[in-house]
Amino acid sequence: MSNPNRLLISDGSDETGSLISHIAEEVGYSVTRATNRKQFRNAYQRKVPTLVVLGLNTPDIDAIDYLRVLATQLCRAPVILTSGTDDRLLATTHHLGLSFGLNMGQVLQTPVTAETVRSMLAAASIDHGTKGAWYPSAAAIRQAVADGELLAYFQPNVDLQQQDTPIVSSEALVRWRHPIRGIIPPKEFLSVVEQASMIGLLTDAVLTFVVRQLLRWREAGVARPVSLNLSASQLEDLTLPDRIIAALDEVGLDRSLLRIEIAERAAMANAKITSIILTRLRLNDISVGLDNYTAQFSPLQQLLSLPLREIKLERSLVQLAPHDPASNTLVRTIVAIGQEAGLTIGAEGIETVEMARTLQAMGCQEGQGFYFSKPLDADDFTDLLQRRQDRVDPTNHPFPTYI
Ligand code: C2E
Ligand code: MG
Repeated sequence: MSNPNRLLISDGSDETGSLISHIAEEVGYSVTRATNRKQFRNAYQRKVPTLVVLGLNTPDIDAIDYLRVLATQLCRAPVILTSGTDDRLLATTHHLGLSFGLNMGQVLQTPVTAETVRSMLAAASIDHGTKGAWYPSAAAIRQAVADGELLAYFQPNVDLQQQDTPIVSSEALVRWRHPIRGIIPPKEFLSVVEQASMIGLLTDAVLTFVVRQLLRWREAGVARPVSLNLSASQLEDLTLPDRIIAALDEVGLDRSLLRIEIAERAAMANAKITSIILTRLRLNDISVGLDNYTAQFSPLQQLLSLPLREIKLERSLVQLAPHDPASNTLVRTIVAIGQEAGLTIGAEGIETVEMARTLQAMGCQEGQGFYFSKPLDADDFTDLLQRRQDRVDPTNHPFPTYI
């Protein structure tokens, strides 16, 4: 059976490309190298890669042209950019890829270590230790919902501006607890759910799970607001606010305990309907945040007219902010506008102390990322909340202190 993980790499003959190709083969990827546009397009059509790596260092490769090829092929695989020379070029190209609707993944500044490459490949891997490719069917997902196999993990949001970075809320992230394959992340089934128009079903399952968990946390005296992610297609569902409100009211939960996150691109694709849904949610005390914010899709006037609580900076901006002057300026400007407009500015994808410090110094209020905690199942998250609440011994601090 063919390997489910297929890497397409532009050129791959420079040091970084060779390292990535070598490690990818070692961990079981089938690797295809392309040295020009034609080869790249043909290789794409033949192999339909599950991961694409584009090096910006190679002189005869026009990464933008390659991104166009990927966009015309409706590529859904994550696209990783690597470059050692110019942070700004890396950031611009990344943002261009996003504007083409591509699934832009990490940006890798070279030289990269073998460890970084391994973790990048593992994150993009669609194998779960079982042999062969696995593509869940819509029917299997429907059955999983009926069997209660869809649940939420929780990732904390911390207050970056307080000395001990307390957990102020969390984000609910859907997972499929598969009886054989274990915990499956959304990238492996969300597109099937969307294509089968089952996103409402998934949201209802996650909402029910979150409401039940919030009741437990309220009981234990550790309840904090939880954000629920909505997809673009749901912004056309005018019954959604009622379903959300009913789910909370039925069990007597304070509406401020549930928040909504919508990706900037989705929200702005149909700003008028978005505005109606968001206003109804907001009028009913449910606050809404703009997720994966890059400032690319929202004219300022439109952005400020939406009844938003929060803007959450996209991971690539956060990760580039410490080094790339343009991203740094952009983040500062967004924070300044946010302060002026009374919006909370959050940051996702904080992985290092350097990113945490940079964002904190820029006045960003809330932070989320692997540096603080990965998404956790409900029990582990409860433990984390309790350890933070009971903290008497500062050496026992579950987050590294960085201030
Ligand atoms: P998102 O809303 O942007 O969520 C953040 C994603 O980034 C999560 O991936 C999280 O695990 C990951 N992440 C958090 N911190 C870091 C970090 O420091 N570094 C890196 N590299 N990644 C980090 P996850 O859980 O796989 O979710 C992926 C996406 O799936 C979410 O992106 C969201 O768009 C979608 N999603 C998740 N749950 C739901 C849901 O219940 N409903 C809908 N409609 N979409 C969902
Ligand atoms: Mg989110």
